[in-house]
Amino acid sequence: MKPEVNLGPYEMVIGLETHVQLRTKTKLFCSCATSFGAEPNTQVCPVCMGLPGALPVVNAHAVRLAALAGLALEARIHPVSRFDRKHYFYPDLPKGYQISQFFHPLCQGGRLVIQTGAGPKVVGITRIHMEEDAGKLLHGGEAGSLLDLNRCGVPLIEIVTDPDIAGPQEACAYLRKLRAVLTCAGVSDCRMNEGSLRCDVNLSLRKPGALLGVRTEIKNLNSFQSVERAIWAEAARQAEALRRGEPILRETRRFDPVTGRTYAMRMKESTQEYCFFPEPDLPPVLLRPETVKDLRASLPILPDARTERFMTVFGLSPYVAEQLTQRRWLADYFEETACLAHNPVSVANILLGEVFALLKARQGEETDGIPVAPRRLAALSDLVSGGQVNSSAGKRILAALFEEDFEPWEYARSFDLLLLREERALREAVSRALEENPAMVAAYRGGKSSVEQALMGKAMALTGGKAEPEMLKKLLREALQEQTT
Ligand code: ADP
Ligand code: MG
Ligand code: ZN
Repeated sequence: MKPEVNLGPYEMVIGLETHVQLRTKTKLFCSCATSFGAEPNTQVCPVCMGLPGALPVVNAHAVRLAALAGLALEARIHPVSRFDRKHYFYPDLPKGYQISQFFHPLCQGGRLVIQTGAGPKVVGITRIHMEEDAGKLLHGGEAGSLLDLNRCGVPLIEIVTDPDIAGPQEACAYLRKLRAVLTCAGVSDCRMNEGSLRCDVNLSLRKPGALLGVRTEIKNLNSFQSVERAIWAEAARQAEALRRGEPILRETRRFDPVTGRTYAMRMKESTQEYCFFPEPDLPPVLLRPETVKDLRASLPILPDARTERFMTVFGLSPYVAEQLTQRRWLADYFEETACLAHNPVSVANILLGEVFALLKARQGEETDGIPVAPRRLAALSDLVSGGQVNSSAGKRILAALFEEDFEPWEYARSFDLLLLREERALREAVSRALEENPAMVAAYRGGKSSVEQALMGKAMALTGGKAEPEMLKKLLREALQEQTT
């Protein structure tokens, strides 16, 4: 859905701040579990509840994952970084401050390439820093608002881009690519529906070539659709204000998906208000060059390189190859299946077509695996691409494979789905069709070639709809040619 938005003489300038939850078993500064969906307040301890006197200890695995994210995004990894306290009051933050990295972040200066209508575009990454998550307020229950501290201290990285993004499509392309790269590197699950990837949009308008305008920040968007809608809504609001000659205020706003509008929450806090200072309870984070080298060597092939490889090795189109490398499990699944099948392009088409339609119906937008063994999908792909079953039978077999495991050819045979490919039987059907329809044959002889289609239908019907269509067509054409000579 794209609301009609006329920005007049203005263009959008967007920078994204994305929070990504690191894939660790335990929290950033204590050994509490991080699993999603646990009973409220069952994964807490004095450290993450902020009780007086409790001391944080850095989770080394979280640091490695954060550095890995930096490497995957081509950023510089600083050998020394530090944690700082960022102070603010909110009920979901029991300590009264969040431990983050402000003065000396872990990574700076990366890049991510996205595809746009006008070709590839580089989005600059300003910085990547580690921080802890806050708790969660659960509003609207009978008891009023409740507090769940399970999320307190969950390890996050915040990835801040340069103001390089020119509109909602580019913003979504950036987020999709970011998800592809970070899931591939094993840094995060990036599940927007579970909050392990969420995004703040900074947006301003300007006339092309002019200096940057005043920006607003829209907080905590957690679906691609809300990112897109929030950007359109906020750009329209700013354009209207500028047209009226009203100033844009440097505000923090929120997007309401029900009304489709953004609302002011508060004026933007200044850096001074947060009163940042170095966290006295934690030593600096030191990363030795050898550690960084080992981490770099451990990175798997990343989505762009894999897209290229799928194109050259399997003959996929750029578009299809890119779709398949958006998620690592999908790329792995495709690669394994394609290596077992005769026709990789057919495997790709079945995956992105029918398989995804079925997954979406079962799992919604956030799919995370295919319940069919690669060798079974390869066998099914061969049946379809080899013309042994038609596409509707292919769909039926696939749907059944989602329910239980079996050999597709056996299934096709026992349910009588195999197409008739026996030449003698097909020739017989053709000659009977010609015999039984002399008027059509005469019309064909008289130059009315369009009756071929009708005769094809007759011959097909004589095989009970089972003939392999390409073969039948060829034999019919031969038989008709004989009739005319
Ligand atoms: P803060 O710490 O106040 O959030 P930052 O300087 O870290 O501010 O910038 C936050 C984000 O805002 C970055 O992604 C940056 O690219 C973006 N940004 C900065 N200036 C503008 C602007 N004028 N218009 C749009 N985005 C901007
Ligand atoms: Mg910010
Ligand atoms: Zn804890």
